[in-house]
Amino acid sequence: MESLDIQKIREEFPILSREVNGKPLVYFDNAATSQTPMRVVDAVLHNYTHTKANVHRGVHTLSQEATDLQEEARRRVRDYINAESIEEVIFTRGTTEGINLVAASFGERFREGDEIILTVMEHHANIVPWQLLQRHKGIKIRVVDINDRGELNLDQYRSLFNDRTVMASFAHVSNVLGTINPVKEMIAYAHAKGVPVLVDGAQGAPHLSIDVRDFDADFYVFSSHKMYGPAGIGVLYGKKKWLEEMPPYQGGGEMIEHVSFNGTTFASLPFKFEAGTPDFIDIAAFVKALDFIKEYDIRNIASHEEALMRYTTEKMLEIPGMRIFGTAPHKCGVISFLVNDIHPYDLGLLLDKTGVAVRTGHHCAQPLMERFGIPGTIRASFAVYNTFEECDIFINNLKRLITFF
Ligand code: PLP
Repeated sequence: MESLDIQKIREEFPILSREVNGKPLVYFDNAATSQTPMRVVDAVLHNYTHTKANVHRGVHTLSQEATDLQEEARRRVRDYINAESIEEVIFTRGTTEGINLVAASFGERFREGDEIILTVMEHHANIVPWQLLQRHKGIKIRVVDINDRGELNLDQYRSLFNDRTVMASFAHVSNVLGTINPVKEMIAYAHAKGVPVLVDGAQGAPHLSIDVRDFDADFYVFSSHKMYGPAGIGVLYGKKKWLEEMPPYQGGGEMIEHVSFNGTTFASLPFKFEAGTPDFIDIAAFVKALDFIKEYDIRNIASHEEALMRYTTEKMLEIPGMRIFGTAPHKCGVISFLVNDIHPYDLGLLLDKTGVAVRTGHHCAQPLMERFGIPGTIRASFAVYNTFEECDIFINNLKRLITFF
């Protein structure tokens, strides 16, 4: 493992040098969205100023160039996640759209009484699309619980499979607890029961190396904006055998082969699932975010983030009344906590006055909050550009603010 030159990395992120409320910004809301390095911003600017033309439509040079950039991005994503082919890489608006696509399209085959296994730690994006399907199809949702450390109860997971189970869908990493779920083992169990699996990789892809073939995931979804890339785009990986069988999710341009009022035929993969003009500017710029991650190596990034998280956790535990939610030995990215009965919103607001950006609330995981019997938490989350000095600022400000209550 190599140690990273964090100051050099920070120079790529001008926003990190700004002040907030007269104090240097300490950005600890990376699980919500990470900041974007200049190489990505420059690529967006370049694409707007040099190659803007609609993709897959024109014979003219600009359109060819824009198409080449987008399709190069698809190849780069394929390599990044080790998918077998570019046909398995669908560009979406983000994790949420990826899950909605699978629920709506793959879900077409489900019948009343069929069962889907989710977990109590899911983000709303991996709950509500299945609930919409529940209304429409009469499927049942079964939910895996966690232990006090915030790890999934794997015995219960295994016990929920029966001959009506048609799908399992769970997070790679919890956005609240940071727990890294044993996805490979969970997928292997589901496959032994003949059940396909979707993995919500929104919090996995920014911190862990992703190998969809090693996981043997049927679907893996993630968002660019949480991994140093542009906002508004994401990826749905799906095994070709499923994508080929699945009906289109939306209709329109790009996704057709031939349209007539007597019947329409659809484009081949991956375009069948990419109706309308894609966000080709940002898709092309996403390559620069993948370059960024590759340059510093996801293993080095993960090890730096883990060191920050462990250091901060240790210091936080010295604070009387501190409760940390998510203490699994195998965790990454985030620390969710409460102090005594201080409302998370109050503490979050005061931390902001000291320049520290943290997230407060239910983190789009209300069933998990209900499980803990709390309305919300404060969440500090880390990225490669964060420093130990920032952790100290956060801890010192936290200690000082707590004395006000
Ligand atoms: N799933 C998890 C675990 C998340 O943390 C998030 C975002 O916070 C999402 C899904 C939704 O991602 P997006 O809003 O980028 O679609």
